[in-house]
Amino acid sequence: MVGVSRTRWTSGGRSGAASPPIASRTSGFTESVIREMTRVAREHGAINLAQGFPDFAAPELLKEEAARAIAEDVNQYAVTWGAERLRRAVASTRERDYGVPVDPDREVTVTCGATEAMASALLAVAEPGDEIVVLEPFYENYGPDAVLCGARPVHVPMGRGAGLDLDRIADAFSDRTRAIILNTPNNPSGRVFSRGALEVLAELCRRHDAWAVTDEIYEHILYGGEHVPMATLEGMRERTISISGASKTFGVTGWRIGWIAAPPGVTDAIRKVHDFLTVGAPAPLQEAVAEGLERLGPEYYGGLAADYRERRDVLHEGLTRAGFRCDPPAGAYYILADFSELDDRPDDAFARWLAAEVGVAPVPGSSFFRRPEDGRSLVRFAFCKTVPVLEEAARRLAAIGGARAEESG
Ligand code: PLP
Repeated sequence: MVGVSRTRWTSGGRSGAASPPIASRTSGFTESVIREMTRVAREHGAINLAQGFPDFAAPELLKEEAARAIAEDVNQYAVTWGAERLRRAVASTRERDYGVPVDPDREVTVTCGATEAMASALLAVAEPGDEIVVLEPFYENYGPDAVLCGARPVHVPMGRGAGLDLDRIADAFSDRTRAIILNTPNNPSGRVFSRGALEVLAELCRRHDAWAVTDEIYEHILYGGEHVPMATLEGMRERTISISGASKTFGVTGWRIGWIAAPPGVTDAIRKVHDFLTVGAPAPLQEAVAEGLERLGPEYYGGLAADYRERRDVLHEGLTRAGFRCDPPAGAYYILADFSELDDRPDDAFARWLAAEVGVAPVPGSSFFRRPEDGRSLVRFAFCKTVPVLEEAARRLAAIGGARAEESG
């Protein structure tokens, strides 16, 4: 009965009727705290800065192309590993932006978002018992993705400040390490890993014969510095699985279009997993994203980053004025803020209080750490919202002192 829980539950209607056993695989997975915070925000009419999706419009030309594709009956399965047009667009933009040649026929797989891309990539490379290095604070899917492969996530703190604690990361590698997951620009920390740090991580991958699986979904949301794809470093093209997608670059998180660029051998394996998991990503939306990649180049990315910088600055100023301790992020669209000088409640209680009494909902920091105590004085705010919404959030945050005084008085 390996992997099967003996716990049974009774189904609502038929009293006493027991359902068959449920696999234990998911027993350690928790319900997304973000959904819970969204419910709390709705209940209290709070501004929802918990959820990481934009509240503004997607580029017109993508929407027009999606409508055109549907009207012209691009309504059946696309090629399983991705419509040819989108694979070509992914390959040529990677070549244009980073100078890495990518073969669209043998090295690109289109998936249902970066989320499916990560699960398919890990299922393609990890054996049960393998270890997968995950840096923390982490994006909440990586641990469960490793567990779904029967692998063991090995969590390592990134370290304090803007850099990475490379010695500690080196210590986490062993002869059981199959992969390290790297997310830069990073959710939730806002860090952008430097070329120097990536060089050291690359050397670790080579020494331990491990894969680098890179989540580059925020590759175009940068406030300075450069995004360095791991695959561009010496000797890393053959051991890097690069993941990105349309969700953040084009503000279309609900379209579920992501992609993977990886060497041909591992791409074959990834395509098999992807085929059995999902068959393929939505065909008309693949056309629309191809249109976006073909027609919206560096100028669009520059505008995207400039708009996000304005939003970042509004929220960062609002948070620091209100008494949070936080650095402006170097990339992505989140601020992980320390509230210990404002309040001594734990993160989940503070997040609920902030939503209910101040009217701004964040995510409790403990959701980004293996040991909840590491995130107890942190909350994460997303700033993928229009400037007036963020200005209103900043106004509400300025009233924290008053709300606390009212509570204690
Ligand atoms: N990776 C990271 C780091 C994210 O923050 C998110 C969404 O918030 C995703 C992946 C999900 O990407 P997708 O919508 O393409 O599945």
